Amino acid sequence: MKAYLNRRYRFSASHRLHSEQMSDAENQSTYGKCNNPHGHGHNYTLEVTVAGDVDSKTGMVLDIKDLKQLVEDEVLQSMDHRFLNKEVPVFSSTLPTTENIAVEIWKRLAQKLPNGKLHRIRLYETPDLYVDYFGEA
Ligand SMILES: [Zn+2]
Repeated sequence: MKAYLNRRYRFSASHRLHSEQMSDAENQSTYGKCNNPHGHGHNYTLEVTVAGDVDSKTGMVLDIKDLKQLVEDEVLQSMDHRFLNKEVPVFSSTLPTTENIAVEIWKRLAQKLPNGKLHRIRLYETPDLYVDYFGEA
């Protein structure tokens, strides 16, 4: 009996989106406020979905306390209230777009969870804009 367990987390962070492969004008028109030289802040909402059989003993897919601790250790401690470009090493060379942040969060959680447990990372940059990432097939 397979079920999908979802947990929502919130964090705030700033970033700057500026691609070396585009001119200043192209960067400005592509990224708008997110191209601000001094950074731009967002209140992100992260939804983590884990999938699996419902354990016959616990009645759960995964102990939600363990997931909470994992997200705290792997994501929130290093990203909450940070300037992502400077404080999260991967984003010194990869643009901290919503897409790339979702992929990074997937990588961090997937390597600490039992194989196949992580089903989806959904990351909201605004209430109306979000990215889903399901890992590589
Ligand atoms: Zn922004």
